[in-house]
Amino acid sequence: MTEPSSDFSTTPPAALIDALTRPRGRILMLGHVHPDADVLGTLLGLGQALSAEGWPVTFAGPHSVPGVLDFLPGADQWQVWAKAPQTFDVLVLTDCPNDARTEGLLAGARREDSLVLNIDHHPDNRRYGTINWIDPSAAATGEMVFDLIGALGLPITPAIAVNLFTAVHTDTGSFRYSNTTAKTFRIAGELTARGADPALVSDRLYQRRPAEALGVLGEVLRQVNVSADGRVAWLAVPRSAASDAFMASEDLVTYPRSIAGVQVAVLLREESAGMVKASLRGKGEVAVNRIAHRFGGGGHENAAGCTLRGTLEEATAALLAAVDEALDGKAS
Ligand code: 5GP
Ligand code: MN
Repeated sequence: MTEPSSDFSTTPPAALIDALTRPRGRILMLGHVHPDADVLGTLLGLGQALSAEGWPVTFAGPHSVPGVLDFLPGADQWQVWAKAPQTFDVLVLTDCPNDARTEGLLAGARREDSLVLNIDHHPDNRRYGTINWIDPSAAATGEMVFDLIGALGLPITPAIAVNLFTAVHTDTGSFRYSNTTAKTFRIAGELTARGADPALVSDRLYQRRPAEALGVLGEVLRQVNVSADGRVAWLAVPRSAASDAFMASEDLVTYPRSIAGVQVAVLLREESAGMVKASLRGKGEVAVNRIAHRFGGGGHENAAGCTLRGTLEEATAALLAAVDEALDGKAS
């Protein structure tokens, strides 16, 4: 399913700039489930820019900031809500393709007359906002928010720079993935000039492992499987094999992905009894978001995810069958 390209824009729409030009009530920066650096960095960074303009800003989402991202400036202001405690005049969502990923918080925090600002780079974004700015050419929502803050004429403080730099850094796999463009480096360069320290961000993201994590990593990685034809590599992780904190701080899917010749890498994690979270990564051969869509998930062409019902074994079999089908379809 392709979206009409006229709907996409690489520059912030005038209506979005207008909505944020002057404070107009209480604003909520609302995150999605299992927040990563792209959603947290953009909500914190944009919220900090707006706060300096006099907006009363609240930061919240259904899940907490993972420990690995606790260095993001302003992370201590992040609230975790099971239910929205009140409604807001303006709500900003970044990197969030659909309402379901707020676990009901969007529905609970918006009124009929609220302005919902939806800023995202997922091609399958459902346009649930009053104003929707969707740019799938952006490597990260961090790039879009950088442009937005510039269009609003607001200064990028060192705190904002660290937040946006980390968003861009992680969504591009440290500037290694195919979404990395010349614009990505221009923005990263500008953010570095404004106070983001690339070495410090790398240190916080990748050099704060507890010593025991290496042992767990070793155990878990022994379970990587590769298909007979070498096109698919996967890793199925039972609940008992690793803690939530370990899973949240390790980008495990990068390991099956790193094997030579692998076209699709899959990570499956048993989240609870009968629920399995899957991450899919491609290398341009097949659009993995199409596979994720079949299971009610979504994402980007080369990075997508979904949740499956069933045991870890059942979910693995179902997902691998769909991956095979996609790869065979591509070959025919
Ligand atoms: P990850 O595998 O790192 O969780 O997610 C990779 C990409 O897939 C992200 O862009 C993320 O938004 C998307 N994604 C992951 N899980 C889901 C899901 O259950 N539903 C949807 N719509 N997108 C997902
Ligand atoms: Mn993103």
